[in-house]
Amino acid sequence: MALSQVVGRLIGVRQHLVDPGGGGAPRVPHPVPAVVVGGGIAGMSAAVVLAERGVPVTVLEAAPALGGRLGAWPEALPDGTQMNEHGFHAFFRQYYNWRSILRRIDPALGFLKPIPGYPVLSAEWPTEEFGRLPPAPPANLLTLLLRSPSLRLADLRRMDRDAALPLLTYDPDRTYAEFDDTTADALLASLKLPDRARAMLFEVFSHSFFNHEAEMSAAEMIAQFHFYLLGNPEGLAFDCPDEDYATAVWQPLARHVEKHGGRIVTGTAATGLHRDAAGWRVETTDGAYDARHVVLALDPPALAALVAASPALVEVAPELVARMPAFGRPGPPYAVARYWCDGDVDPGRAVFSGVSRQTTLDSVTLYHRLENEPRRWAERTGGSVVELHAYACAAGVPAAELAELMWAELGTLWPEATRLRVRELRARVEARAPAFTPGSHAWRPGVRTEADGLYLAGDGIRTEFPSALMERSAATGIIAANHILRAEGGAAEPVRSIRPRGLLTRRT
Ligand SMILES: Cc1cc2nc3c(=O)[nH]c(=O)nc-3n(C[C@H](O)[C@H](O)[C@H](O)COP(=O)(O)OP(=O)(O)OC[C@H]3O[C@@H](n4cnc5c(N)ncnc54)[C@H](O)[C@@H]3O)c2cc1C
Repeated sequence: MALSQVVGRLIGVRQHLVDPGGGGAPRVPHPVPAVVVGGGIAGMSAAVVLAERGVPVTVLEAAPALGGRLGAWPEALPDGTQMNEHGFHAFFRQYYNWRSILRRIDPALGFLKPIPGYPVLSAEWPTEEFGRLPPAPPANLLTLLLRSPSLRLADLRRMDRDAALPLLTYDPDRTYAEFDDTTADALLASLKLPDRARAMLFEVFSHSFFNHEAEMSAAEMIAQFHFYLLGNPEGLAFDCPDEDYATAVWQPLARHVEKHGGRIVTGTAATGLHRDAAGWRVETTDGAYDARHVVLALDPPALAALVAASPALVEVAPELVARMPAFGRPGPPYAVARYWCDGDVDPGRAVFSGVSRQTTLDSVTLYHRLENEPRRWAERTGGSVVELHAYACAAGVPAAELAELMWAELGTLWPEATRLRVRELRARVEARAPAFTPGSHAWRPGVRTEADGLYLAGDGIRTEFPSALMERSAATGIIAANHILRAEGGAAEPVRSIRPRGLLTRRT
């Protein structure tokens, strides 16, 4: 354990048990059917836990394959088939719940390889390194501030320290009560940071949540600083699979669920939900499924659409129905483009880099230095496989245009990229990420709904402890499964998180 983690532990920066689990039988005494709608991280996390406890669970996934926003699929290229993915994902080390699900398929998590470094690129300023910090606070924060070329001691003195205090005093209730109606943009402006520090240390971080700072709740930004940096004992370090997500994650997880008696049905979309005295009926494009319990593990627009297509829910879950119009409006569109190129960028370029203050481009990933199949393709052809992301783009711009803009912006950061010839390009633009707009905490639904036997899971669903993105999906999936297990006499799964409050939060 690093020294910073020992110091961190002394002040309570460590893994916390949110729910110890247990309290029931290893297998439910009277198995009743459950249906999970949506086969992304949230749905499959719920299904894993339910199947292991003997609940006859069926996962209904609309797409041809599992994975949702962590999906992967074969792409026919002129020189053979290559896997393509929904986009590069960083598996952070404090993702305790997601990692516990992944340990079912690889107890040592050997398929996750550490990614060295986390540089932030800018056309205006020298690169800032977010990686290689001591893992735990306060050492990580102090090192970041002292070593950052973007922030001098004089800047720290000029900064409004009272305005910065909320970042260190995260509280799951007070932070939302005080800051949910403010924008992240206004909070950052109030810090009075030099422009460079704001761009290099803060903006690149907030963009990763698929929201514009001007439209994102300041409370959410404070919560995410706490989750990723200020309350996290594991470091801002992350790992990635060395195979595509279908091979590394989805095929083994599907086998695990099926081995425990669960069923996975892909290519079947839920179209409506009904409740009668016997329980729930999920209508699909391919017949109906009856269940005592239903978990809706959908992205926000899909959840809102399914609720809207289920008029009977007004009777049993009026609050859920009322919250959907706001909840179902996703964050801004995001774009992902993968380029198979002749030639390579400089050998010293990092596998993954964040990008600050470009109009479109937010990150660069060198897939031929990350996953085995692109690595082999690059070795065979002398080429490279580059993926570019824009996390929050303007609405209505076609994917091809965004891909062109991102590629041009890459050329301003890495001049050698202008000499690469793009042989193949696959670009997509979608809007399926949850919006964390000011005031959204008030209407954000939690896992449990008012309707008996109906639960929600996903990265837009509220948790009472720090979580985000993939980890929030996994955690809410497990919590939904736990509600079902407790109702049916099965042992619940433990739920974990980081330090629940900020370093300087006073307990009242
Ligand atoms: C480009 C990109 C990069 C990202 N990078 C990171 C990262 O680095 N780190 C991180 O932690 N997170 C990252 N994320 C976020 C992460 O992908 C999501 O938080 C997570 O995958 C969401 O999982 P989910 O199960 O909640 O939702 P989803 O993955 O959206 O799953 C919902 C599922 O429901 C299915 N569905 C929809 N309608 C129906 C229906 N009617 N019937 C049946 N099924 C239906 C969908 O097909 C989908 O499979 C990234 C996301 C993107 C897009």
